[in-house]
Amino acid sequence: MSLIEKINSYEIDKREQIAHIYKNSSITYGELIEKSDAMAAYIIDQFGDDKTPIVVYGHKEHEMLICFLACVKAGHAYIPIDTSFPYERVRDIVESSQTKMIFNIGEFDYNFLGVNVKSYNEIKKILSQYKLHKPDEKYALEEEDTYYIIYTSGSTGKPKGVQITLSCLESFINWATKISSLRDGANYVFMNQAPFSFDLSVMDLYLSLSSGSTLFSIDKSMVLNLKLLFESFSSSDINIWVSTPSFAEMCLGDSSFNEELLPKLEAFLFCGETLANSCAQRLLKRFSNSKVINMYGPTEATVAVTSIEINEEIANKIVPLPVGIVKKDCRVIIIDENGNELPEGEKGEIIIIGDSVSIGYYNNKERTEKSFSKKVINGVEKRCYRTGDEGYIKQGLLYYCGRIDFQIKLNGYRIELEDIENNLRNIEFINNCVVVPVIKENRIQHLTAVVTLNRSPWDKEFKMAMQIKNELKKFIPDYMIPRKINIVESLPMTINGKVNRKALLEEMK
Ligand code: AMP
Repeated sequence: MSLIEKINSYEIDKREQIAHIYKNSSITYGELIEKSDAMAAYIIDQFGDDKTPIVVYGHKEHEMLICFLACVKAGHAYIPIDTSFPYERVRDIVESSQTKMIFNIGEFDYNFLGVNVKSYNEIKKILSQYKLHKPDEKYALEEEDTYYIIYTSGSTGKPKGVQITLSCLESFINWATKISSLRDGANYVFMNQAPFSFDLSVMDLYLSLSSGSTLFSIDKSMVLNLKLLFESFSSSDINIWVSTPSFAEMCLGDSSFNEELLPKLEAFLFCGETLANSCAQRLLKRFSNSKVINMYGPTEATVAVTSIEINEEIANKIVPLPVGIVKKDCRVIIIDENGNELPEGEKGEIIIIGDSVSIGYYNNKERTEKSFSKKVINGVEKRCYRTGDEGYIKQGLLYYCGRIDFQIKLNGYRIELEDIENNLRNIEFINNCVVVPVIKENRIQHLTAVVTLNRSPWDKEFKMAMQIKNELKKFIPDYMIPRKINIVESLPMTINGKVNRKALLEEMK
C-alpha cells in the first residue's frame, strides 16, 4: 500500500481518531481526509494534467496538513513555507519554483504577478464548495514523482529547492518506523517542534500520519516561553519527541522537564545537530523509561540516513557520540579532497549513496551538478550526494565531525570550530555553546565562545571564564582556546530550532 493509500484508509479505520492538535484545536482523520480530498478535487479542476508545484504558506494550522495532502492527491509536489520566512525569501522561492498557486493560510499580503494566491477565507470557501468531492485517483502522485520540495539556504544567498520523491519519503518512513520501534496499530502522540519548512518536521508529520497517530504541534511563540510550553506538555500525552538537540537542551535548563511532566514519553528522536554526551546523559537520567535516538542526514537525503540508540553506556563512554548505522538501501562513504574513498577510521567528506538521495535541486541544474552525481553499486546506478560534512566510520558506525565549511584558519592554524565546541560541552557545568570567529577587515581576529551554564560555580563572570579556559586547556592546544568567553542565559535559535550562528556572527562584528 502506498503512503497516500495508507493515510486514506484511516478515513474509515480511524475516523474519529485525532490526527492533529494545534493551539487547543484538533482535527480528526475523518475530517483531514475529507477536506484534503475536497481540496484535491478543486486543484484538479484548476490544473488538470499540469503538475506545477504548489506553495503552502502558513505555520502549524490544520489547513497546512490538509493542503499538503490535497496537493499530492492531485499529483502536485508541495512547497512548505513557514510564516517566519521574510518577504525576500518567500519571493525567491515563488520566483525560482515558478509556482502558479499559493495556499496563503498564514495570510501574507504580498502580490506575485501571475500567481493565484488563495486567501484563508477562499480556502475555507473551496472546502465547503467541494465538500464530499473525491479526487480522481488517476491524478495521484506516483512513486518517482516529487512529493515535496523543501528550500534550504544556499551558500550563494539564494535558497535551493530539494526535491524529494514519494519513494524517497516511503523508504524513510519505513526505516524510521522500525528504528523507533513503533508498534503496529498503536496510537501515538508525536511532538512536532520544527516548522513544516524544515525537513525535521517530515519525521514527526509522516511517522504520525502513516501510523494513524496524533501530531501535537508546538506554536513558535511557545518555543520562546518555557512556562507556556510546559503547560501545554502537561496535557499532551506525548509519546514520541522529535526535535533538534538544542531544543531539548533548552528544556533541560528547567528542572521540571522530567518524567513527571511527560509520563507517557517513550522515545526522543534527534536529528539536525550534534547531540552532546551531556545532553543524552541528562535525558536518560530524567526520563528513565525513554529511549534516546540520534539520527543524521541532510534534507538532500530525505531527513536522515543513519541512526543509533544512545544508551547510558554509549553516552558515558563514546565521545563524541556516533550518529549511527546507515539505512539498508543507502551507503555512506568517506572521501578525501581528491575524491578517493578513504579507509575506516580516516576523516573526510561524507558521501551518501542510494535511494534516499534527492533527484536534485528544482530548476537549478548548476547547483544539482555540483552536489549530486551517480555511482554504480553492484551493477546498479544510484544517486549520490556530497554532504559537505566531515566524518569518519569506525566499526560500522558513522561519526560526524562538523561542517567542512566550519573549518577556519586562525594565525595559520587550521581549526574546526565544532572541535572546540565539543570540548566545551564536556565541561560539566556547560549546557550548550557556540564558538564564533570575530572578523575584522576580512581577517579572523580571535574566537569567542558563547556559552550557557547549567550552574554557576563562581559568581564573578571573569572567574567563570578563567575556569572554562583552564578546563579547555586540558583538552585542546592553546591556539584553539577562545580569547573571549561570553556567558549568556540562552543562545539565539533559528526558527528551525538550531543555534543561530549567523545572528551570533553578526553580533560579534
Ligand atoms: P538540514 O538539511 O537542515 O537537515 O541540515 C543537515 C545538516 O545538519 C547535515 O549536513 C549536518 O551538517 C547536520 N546534522 C544533521 N544531523 C546531525 C547529527 N545527528 N549530528 C550532527 N550534525 C547533524
